[in-house]
Order: sequence, then C-alpha cells, then structure tokens
Amino acid sequence: MKRNIWGSRDARIPIAAVLLGLTCLVYGCGTAPVRQQSRVDTAMGTIVTQTLYVRGGSGTVYENGESEAATDAESIFIMQLLEELEGRELSWRAEGSEVAEINAGAGGEVHVVPSSSLREILGQIWQISADSDGALDVTLGRLSRLWNMDELAAEGGQMSVPSIEQVRSALEDTGYERARFSGDALILPAGMQLDLGAVGKGIACDRVSAYLHSQPQITGAVVAVGGSVVTYGQKPDGSPWKVAIIHPREEGSYLGVLSLTGEQYVSTSGDYERYVTVDGVRYHHILDPATGYPARSGLCSVTIVCDGGLTADALSTACFVLGPERGIALAENYGAEALLVSEDGALHMTEGMKKIFSVGE
Ligand code: AMP
Ligand code: MG
Repeated sequence: MKRNIWGSRDARIPIAAVLLGLTCLVYGCGTAPVRQQSRVDTAMGTIVTQTLYVRGGSGTVYENGESEAATDAESIFIMQLLEELEGRELSWRAEGSEVAEINAGAGGEVHVVPSSSLREILGQIWQISADSDGALDVTLGRLSRLWNMDELAAEGGQMSVPSIEQVRSALEDTGYERARFSGDALILPAGMQLDLGAVGKGIACDRVSAYLHSQPQITGAVVAVGGSVVTYGQKPDGSPWKVAIIHPREEGSYLGVLSLTGEQYVSTSGDYERYVTVDGVRYHHILDPATGYPARSGLCSVTIVCDGGLTADALSTACFVLGPERGIALAENYGAEALLVSEDGALHMTEGMKKIFSVGE
C-alpha cells in the first residue's frame, strides 16, 4: 500500500483538528465578531481616511459581554507606513528621503543606484511616460517648484504668474527621455529634479494593500489617501464598496458614486484640488510637460479605476494632460476604466466605467 507523507487516513483527522485548533486560537476561528475600525488622519500632505473590518483582537465585544480595549493597531500601523514612505523614500521636501538625496546632487550629472523598490517604481513610471507620449513626466521638478502651486493654493496666496523665460528655463531641465538607466544605475542630466507627486498617493495605496494582505484578521478595508483609494476584501454584509467622486465645480457635492467589489484602486486628478485664479484664469497643479504651463486639455477631472495604485495615480495625471480622446485610449491600453469630465460638464467614460459609475446618489 502506498503511504502518504501525512501518514494513514485515520491519523490525518487528528492532525487536521490540531491545525484547525491552532488557527482558531490565532484568528478566532472565523466566529469572532468583525469590528469596524474607522479613522481620519493626515499624511503625505493630505487627509487619510481608513475603514477597516477586523475579526477578533482589540476592541472585540464577545457574546458573553466581555470586551477587549480598542487599540486601532492596524490603522495606526498603516499611518506609520505612509509616513515612512513619504519621509524615507518619495518626498522631495523631506530632507534625507531617497528622492531628496537624488535631487540634492542635481548641481552636476547625477549617477545613483536607487534602492530596488525605487528602481521598480521608476521603471513603471518611465513605461507610462513612454506610453503617454510624455504626458506623465516626473522629471518636471524644477517646473513644479517654479509654479509652487502646493503652497500657493494652501495659503489662498497671491500669485505672480511666472514669466515665459522662467518657464522656458525650467522646462529645459525636464524630460524623462533625457534620463538614462544603465544597469542598476539612474543617470540624470545636471539640473534635473524629480517630483513624484503625481504617483505618491497611488504608491501609498499599493503599500497599504501589501500590508492588508499580510493580516488575515483584516477581512475588508477601504483606505483613501487624498484622491487615491484602495478597496480590499469584503464588507461584513457583502455589499459593494462605495467611492464618491468629488464634483469638480460644485464645492462640497459629489458627481456620483463608484460601486466596487474586492480589490480595486481608484485615483482622481482634478484642477479644483490646488489652484489659484489670476485675472480670471485658473492656474492649477497639473502641468503639461510639453508647454510648462497648467494643462489645458478641456478636462477638469479624471478618475481611473484599475488593478494597481501607482498605475491608477499615474494614469489619472497623464489622462488629464492628454484630454478626452487620447486619455480614454491610454486608459483602455492599460485595461483601466476611466471617467473624464470636460469643463463644459460632459462625461466621457470607458465601457466598463459605465457599469460601475452612477451619477448623483
Ligand atoms: P495628481 O494630483 O496625482 O494629478 O498629481 C499632481 C502633482 O504631480 C502635482 O502637484 C505636481 O507635483 C506633479 N505633476 C504635475 N503635472 C505633472 C505631470 N504632467 N507629470 C508628472 N507629475 C506632474
Ligand atoms: Mg496622479
């Protein structure tokens, strides 16, 4: 008779029971109640909203009336994760971050070997830059600093529009195709500055997702890092996740709602997020790398839904720059769903988006 490495058939039953017992001890056997953990914090210069569904553990109220103190450990861990991503890796403002270190060398040609995680990120970004004809270009750091929209918009500040000469000069230091990868090294021409603002919050969603996957007690979650959102798992009642899309022209109201199931990534880019109006002209934070000026593609908002955070965030920025027709084509090329809103209020949607987006609600 052939012997199974698990031993005889009869011996398998007690082994399975022991394994199940251990699993029950660790994860509450699936019978412990699921608790909703909700928090609102700030990180990465934006608001982070988390709703996690956690089985057992802290905060659990048992049927016999006993309970455990709620520590929100998982949500707190996620905030630490985001702070580290910003401070150690992505922020050009955070002294000592990997990107800030690269930018600090821009007095001459930069020759660096980025961490493997940054190399992978840059690889994905460069691919989307190429596929979007440069509509996404994270080498425009000098330009985004010149426009300085983040701080101006936050202060409601007075802005003097940069001169054509200033824009031209900053533009000369940009161009993703002028950066080179040689083996593991990244080589940037002198003067080039990186700004990963267009993808940072999407990358944050990817990191949050990796953490959620590593925590079997988390049965469902929706985490929004500013305009980038990740949904994961299931709600206890099995109903779809609802993600509201901000109305680009009516402050405080929503354009509509996305109904999503399982793991999805959503990113919205809009000209209403950070802008200053000068002489009736809206100067916003999404720049056209071809002109050096805020993109004038006829769009005021772009939402992308797809299977990756970085991709969703990168595509929302790129599609905004490209405008309705080319934007839809780029999204389709990536198997992503897109909702583009024109300044005249017209909605442009991929076929799949029509099934998951409802106006109003
Ligand atoms: P998002 O809100 O994701 O569309 O990203 C906008 C931010 O990305 C801006 O605040 C800039 O820091 C940066 N940015 C603006 N335009 C571009 C662009 N065309 N390509 C890459 N980054 C950009
Ligand atoms: Mg973006």
